[in-house]
Order: sequence, then C-alpha cells, then structure tokens
Amino acid sequence: MNVIEVSGLTVRYSGATALEGVDLVVGEGELVALIGPNGAGKSTLVKALSGLIRPAAGQITVNGRLAQVPEGREMFGDLTVDDNLRLGGWRNGRHGRGTGAIYPLLPELTGLRRRRAGTLSGGQQQMVAIGRALMARPDVLVVDELSLGLAPLVVADLVGHLRTLNADRGLAVLLIEQNARLALGLCHRAYVLEAGRIALRGDADELARDPRVAAAYLGGHVTTDGPAR
Ligand code: ATP
Repeated sequence: MNVIEVSGLTVRYSGATALEGVDLVVGEGELVALIGPNGAGKSTLVKALSGLIRPAAGQITVNGRLAQVPEGREMFGDLTVDDNLRLGGWRNGRHGRGTGAIYPLLPELTGLRRRRAGTLSGGQQQMVAIGRALMARPDVLVVDELSLGLAPLVVADLVGHLRTLNADRGLAVLLIEQNARLALGLCHRAYVLEAGRIALRGDADELARDPRVAAAYLGGHVTTDGPAR
C-alpha cells in the first residue's frame, strides 16, 4: 500500500505554473527523497500535501496519518521543549497523548525538556520538530529541508534517527532536500523535480550514479561527511 499517492498534480499561482503533472508515490515504510534546485516547486508540493493550497488539477491521496517537519522548524521559542512537543499532539482542539513516548525515541531531548525552545541550537530544534511531528503517531513524515543551516555532524545525527525510526517502527519518510548527496544517501528511491516537473525518478543508488544527477546536484555540493562550513 502507498501512504502517499500524488497523480497529475498541477498547481498555479495567479497564472504561473509551479507544478505540472507531478506523479509521486511513497510506499508504506519507504524512505523517498524529493530533490531539486531553488524554485523547482518543492515547497509547493509540501503545501499541497498538507492541504494549504488547492491544486488546479490532479489528486493527492494519503493513506494513514501524515505529519510534517516544516522548513525552518517553526518552534514556539518562549515555550519549553516539552510544551512544543505537546503542541504536536493537538488534534481538532483536543489534547492528544502525553509526551512521554517521544523521549525514548529521541533521548537527546530528555535533558532538554524544560529548556525554552528558543535557547536551543538549530540541530536541537530540528530534533524537537521531529519529536513534535511524531506526537501525531504518523505513518509518514514529510521532512522539509532537514539539513538547512545545520553542520554536517548534526545532520548525520538527525539522519541516524530517521533511519532508526524507519527500521524499527516502519515510519515512511518523504525527505525534501536541496542537499542531494544527503537525500540519496538516506533514501531508497528519489524524484528529481525541475521547473515544476519530475525530471528523473528511480532508485537512489542509480540516480546517484546518473551523470545528469552528478553534474547538476552532486558536483560542488557540501557533503554530509565533509568539513563544517
Ligand atoms: P526553494 O528551494 O527555493 O524553497 P522550491 O523548490 O520550494 O524552492 P517553490 O517555493 O515551491 O520552490 O516555488 C515554485 C515556483 O512557484 C517558483 O517559481 C516560485 O517563485 C513560485 N511561487 C511560490 N510561491 C508563490 C506564490 N505564493 N505566488 C506566486 N508564485 C509563487
């Protein structure tokens, strides 16, 4: 079964086409990457998935629960880590489960639970954003720009957590990333979005060897195992 099925998705902003006929699926327990340059339409796809924008054409089907780790983390800086997590459990104005289930999954958060989120490092905030999304008990996590502004070692740690959640709990992930090397290293399959269309798709290993991908996306890229910027 597919947790996400997107078919023929077309989105226009006042006449300008941001996505055109996009087909994409994420299977149960699958790690899938969506890579592409600035302005390719990645954020537009995320917005369409979460119902924030209405497509001009096409269909989106989500089987199960979808939760998002938004670009830029979107913490409530004045609230504690624990309160930020709790906000992920709100559904239709009702309180969800307690936050206790999250700490064993992301043990680094345990010692930070009373800290105000605004005082955390970027990597710690990204961890909170993942924990907050997990509060919804998702079948699939849509992660928008995991690596944005974070040092490679911090990113590697976050990737390790996503791998474990996938392997141990069968959590599916759609990873939207500008860092193609990172995305292709983590994921089973990948899609390359260019100017609103899916330009390439396939196994992550195959795409990483594809000369077109190498030239456009892996060339001068900062790697996850390279030096911090
Ligand atoms: P980035 O990696 O820079 O965030 P992206 O791949 O997420 O880029 P989108 O933000 O989805 O790309 O934008 C796709 C296209 O739609 C771009 O040409 C962008 O300028 C345009 N666009 C995005 N939002 C709007 C909007 N609200 N109104 C008009 N055009 C928009």
